[in-house]
Amino acid sequence: MNGPPTAGILAIGDELLGGETLDRNSAWISSRLAELGIGTGEHRTVGDDASAIAGAFAELRSRHGVVISTGGLGPTLDDCTRPGLAESLGEPLVEDAEALAHLEAWFTGRGRPMPVANRTQALRPEGAICLDNPHGTAPGLLVEAEAGGLVACLPGPPREMQPMFLEQVRPRLAVAGEAVGRTRLVHACGAGESDLAARLGELMAPGRTPQVGITASHGVVTARIRSRGRAADVESQLDRAAEEIERRWAPYAFGRDATTLASATAADLVAGGRTLAVAESCTAGMLGEMLVAVSGASSFFEGGWLVYSNALKTSQLGVPESVLERHGAVSEPTAALLAMAAASRAGTDLALSVTGVAGPTGGSEHKPVGTVFIGLCDRRDGPARVRRFRFPGDRDAVRRRSATSALAMLRLHIAGAGGTPLLWEWPE
Ligand code: ATP
Ligand code: MG
Repeated sequence: MNGPPTAGILAIGDELLGGETLDRNSAWISSRLAELGIGTGEHRTVGDDASAIAGAFAELRSRHGVVISTGGLGPTLDDCTRPGLAESLGEPLVEDAEALAHLEAWFTGRGRPMPVANRTQALRPEGAICLDNPHGTAPGLLVEAEAGGLVACLPGPPREMQPMFLEQVRPRLAVAGEAVGRTRLVHACGAGESDLAARLGELMAPGRTPQVGITASHGVVTARIRSRGRAADVESQLDRAAEEIERRWAPYAFGRDATTLASATAADLVAGGRTLAVAESCTAGMLGEMLVAVSGASSFFEGGWLVYSNALKTSQLGVPESVLERHGAVSEPTAALLAMAAASRAGTDLALSVTGVAGPTGGSEHKPVGTVFIGLCDRRDGPARVRRFRFPGDRDAVRRRSATSALAMLRLHIAGAGGTPLLWEWPE
């Protein structure tokens, strides 16, 4: 084999084919392999069937130096990974004395005799070795191949599979030499995916190093920057690309990697020593939920009001009935009054308010479904500013986009870019 090996990942189980379980194991293994500089060439899924498993192993081994399977190592008749691997290797299954002793000890340690069925878990193809499973009964299997390649069979449950991979498979894969694969993410919110893609221009050209792609989820657009090579080179290359993307995405870019819009906003609030309250109608707590997901939220977040009905908007936050009658609950004046009342009653520097028509019912000609007013009160600059949005999507999407846009509005305001146009804004 020339160059570093590629990997073929095999997920085994009828529940995967039936759509009941999502194959997260393969994704997790591919991410770990990428960190070692081993690219995944193929993901396969087969059911609990020995000959299908044998066929898949044979094909994957013909194409990839590293083959890793998960699932089907249990003690029941539907678990056929052991016979499947043995068949593809053309080897008989033999009982592994040490694995059997481990299994017996596992049951003795839990005060019960070993069921007869579990004895099959001590079987391995003649040329394979067993991998210890400290977190369950199913031992894994390993076959070393030429040129640093290997075949490993790991249990299905992630809490057994992951430690077995990290402790017993990964050390045997340090064969890819100095090459590492790394990914860096840059996130932005407030502009559309195609607008942000256009700003990246040639950076996204196929075949370029590093490779840049973008994805969008719930209003947050993420650039995924990937590179492979020597660790030190890769890191500086990714840093340079991330800086360039942040420059082109200003002022919408808000953070890298694990940073969320809420955690970035929180960091800005904490850095400025400023506090926040919320008054939520159509999002009904979603905004508060996003803020409190950030650990240490109590240092900047006081809390808020979930004022869904008109009656509560009046009794809890003093929105006059006359305003609600004249302009409606979904209106600029209502959003402004909610934000100002929240800030003054909570005694915070800032407050956000959200009021809108999430749908699918309740829309009208002037306020169609998706119409949302977001208010931002900064007590330093007097009355609240309100922006009107028209969000696409179903009830859940409108509510999520409302909460996300409120955070984006706050973050841009703190950054001194409060006038920046936002995605889905619907100016008068
Ligand atoms: P066990 O000893 O638990 O029977 P096993 O190796 O036979 O282990 P399976 O029976 O195939 O594993 O799967 C057990 C559980 O592991 C599944 O119910 C599922 O929750 C989880 N699992 C299996 N395969 C995957 C996968 N590819 N991705 C995520 N979870 C999985
Ligand atoms: Mg099973």
